[in-house]
Amino acid sequence: MLKDQDRIFTNIYGLKDMSLKGAMARGHWDGTKQIIEKGRDWIIDEMKASGLRGRGGAGFPTGMKWSFMPKQNDGRPHYLVVNADESEPGTCKDREILRHDPHTLLEGCVIAGCAMGANTTYIYVRGEYMREREALQAAIDECYEAGLLGKNNKNGWDMDIYVHHGAGAYICGEETALIESLEGKKGQPRLKPPFPANMGLYGCPTTVNNVESIAVAPTILRRGASWFSGIGRPNNVGTKLFMVSGHVNKPCTFEDAMSVPFKDLIEKHCGGIRGGWDNLLGVIPGGASCPIVKGEDMQNAIMDFDGMRDVKSSFGTGGMIVMDKSTDVIKAIWRIAAFFKHESCGQCTPCREGTGWMMRVLERMVKGHAQKREIDMLFEVTKQIEGHTICALGDAAAWPVQALIRNFRPEIEKRIDQYTHNATAHGAVLEAAE
Ligand code: SF4
Repeated sequence: MLKDQDRIFTNIYGLKDMSLKGAMARGHWDGTKQIIEKGRDWIIDEMKASGLRGRGGAGFPTGMKWSFMPKQNDGRPHYLVVNADESEPGTCKDREILRHDPHTLLEGCVIAGCAMGANTTYIYVRGEYMREREALQAAIDECYEAGLLGKNNKNGWDMDIYVHHGAGAYICGEETALIESLEGKKGQPRLKPPFPANMGLYGCPTTVNNVESIAVAPTILRRGASWFSGIGRPNNVGTKLFMVSGHVNKPCTFEDAMSVPFKDLIEKHCGGIRGGWDNLLGVIPGGASCPIVKGEDMQNAIMDFDGMRDVKSSFGTGGMIVMDKSTDVIKAIWRIAAFFKHESCGQCTPCREGTGWMMRVLERMVKGHAQKREIDMLFEVTKQIEGHTICALGDAAAWPVQALIRNFRPEIEKRIDQYTHNATAHGAVLEAAE
């Protein structure tokens, strides 16, 4: 478990002074200039050594991502883009940083900008996050006034930060769709390559990073890579903002160490499962696109990238959706399928057609109005979508359905049997009445 002094986010609940003065009193913006003076290579090496993996869901090593930006400047500007779109259902951590601890992010932008040769940052904020955008803008204005941002600022690295408000499309959280949207176009993912590090925003080298990945960087560089990499277990290090929603006694967002057992996290922060541990049906561990894990498999699971892979799911954003035995799990997954169908941008046929097809089949399965052979057919279709699309939304839509079939097949079959039984009984009653 994480010690209090190892917490990076010191005002996640907004209980303390969130102004620049308050943030400085808690240790932010401390020695930023000295970090920047150590230079681009030092920053990137230290970030690599820290073992930080991106906190937006994919878990790609952050230091490595930064190192992909061209070292030589060919005349094109470099851009840092912060992905604050946070549209994955079950995920609500970046909003806490934006509205309560924004200076962690702003300081991170200056340092990351220096590491990548970028003097401009765009922060792309989710459309629904009005108050968060206002809080962020207020913090940016404060920094300009205090000479921490802009040209010839006190940190020794020129940095301008612009906040861009999205319009609420889930797909704009995908990095290339986000870039398209920033350019004023319809938010549709681009085919890769070329990758954004070579040809991103306005055709210039660009790195897109999640809010939390950037916000933790200054503290890592201040306290040292070995401090960060000493928390958690190899390949899964550091501190993390976790979110728990659903059937626990106290749903909440909190910061803790990586690699803590799921059970301990729930007991310590959320007051346990509603109705006790025997009442746990399943958990979606990292946002809606992560495969659901059965309750009994989750009880001993370790919450990190490898731990979730071991239970055939993925760590994603760390946003856990807990379901107790009162949940209609088929309906829950149908609801997720309906979400992805609604959010598909429509460019690729397997995603455009497949998401709607899966949703409609599941809709019948919720009632039991289906045939058992359709379960295998549905699984087949998920395999036709997975890996056959431009972006990861296709996979994201397929995984929850695959996991439903893998883990809860008897439930679907029982529902079909019940429906058939009721229909037969109803038919017999009608016949008798005639
Ligand atoms: Fe659009 Fe879906 Fe294709 Fe992604 S996978 S580009 S969301 S159609």
